[in-house]
Amino acid sequence: MKKHILVVPGDGIGAEVTTVGKQVLEAIAHKFGHEFTYDEALIGHVAIEATGSPLPDETLAKMKNADAVLFGAVGHPKYDNDPSAKVRPEQGLLKMRKELGLYANLRPIKLFDELLDASSIKPEILRGADILFFRELTGDVYFGKRERLDEGNTAYDTMIYSKYEVERIVRKAFEAARTRSKKLCSVDKANVLESSRLWREVVQALAPEYPDVTVEHQFVDATAMLLIKDPKRFDVVVTGNLFGDILTDEASQIAGSMGMLASASVGDSTGVYEPIHGSAHDITGKGVANPLASVLSVALLLDISFGLKAEAQAIIDAVDAVLKAGFRTGDIANSSTSPDKILGTGAMGHQILQQLIP
Ligand code: NAD
Repeated sequence: MKKHILVVPGDGIGAEVTTVGKQVLEAIAHKFGHEFTYDEALIGHVAIEATGSPLPDETLAKMKNADAVLFGAVGHPKYDNDPSAKVRPEQGLLKMRKELGLYANLRPIKLFDELLDASSIKPEILRGADILFFRELTGDVYFGKRERLDEGNTAYDTMIYSKYEVERIVRKAFEAARTRSKKLCSVDKANVLESSRLWREVVQALAPEYPDVTVEHQFVDATAMLLIKDPKRFDVVVTGNLFGDILTDEASQIAGSMGMLASASVGDSTGVYEPIHGSAHDITGKGVANPLASVLSVALLLDISFGLKAEAQAIIDAVDAVLKAGFRTGDIANSSTSPDKILGTGAMGHQILQQLIP
């Protein structure tokens, strides 16, 4: 198969982890006889520094022309500590999602057995948890009207959803539920919010089209509690942008670390594959970032954008084997990990590559 992949490392540890992700793509191409070509582009703080824009037109054009995008992260402490900055790295991320019509963010939350003790949750509660989150990505408070009033002393953001926006992501979630255990949990705050009442109406209206799927509605506060109390009760979960943002970070603890979680953003155009973590400036440049979320993002890219299921499974198996062999990055190590098994970013990547091409 011939495909063109755009690598967009972004800021902070984005560059470190996508370097490993790209090496894994190259190894897969070699192992399975594919021909992948690559290009690179700027986004976020590095793009602002180079061009003044967090998403330069050139980057957007390259994204639209690629078969898939392997993304790192955006963000810089300079902006985190300056809420008044008019041009910000995250604007690049939001514009990319809007321009590419990336309305569905898929976040598989699955704990590798070897990491049962890396989580702060008890192993007996975690074992067997396997959740697929669908987070809506182009609506909600992130894109609604916002304003400062009263000489800056009052502020509001608008949580806004249209029926079609809810319908298209809920359909994707129903379809995924059909291929799994046929259970769909829709999360909202319909006891308080009008936009959530619309969300729930849409889910209820679509449910008869999927009679084989059992639908449960949950309030977001209850979901936040149940995810930690009993993660195994969930299978496919669909929710809005803000609730999904918060719940998936919480659920990352089920997988042991933010450094283990991959995501796929798909919709009308090129799919974008990225770790759920940010640019992590506290560890940038130290060579300790866990690259496995980027590696697992490559597995999602191959599976979802290219339909290469065996190749995707080979990557998941390689991660599994490396963890079974006892290798850990610092974020997933614990007191029983022997110091010689704690690896940096490049060495962890090397272990994965050795599994793929012994
Ligand atoms: P973060 O995900 O960057 O880091 C949170 C914590 O997790 C940090 O202690 C970090 O060291 C650790 N961590 C994250 N990824 C890791 C990895 N691969 N290996 C080991 N440890 C890892 O979140 P934050 O600190 O809240 O935000 C930092 C910056 O990232 C901010 O500017 C924020 O806006 C941005 N951000 C970007 C994205 C994105 O690009 N999609 C997502 C979240 C945050």
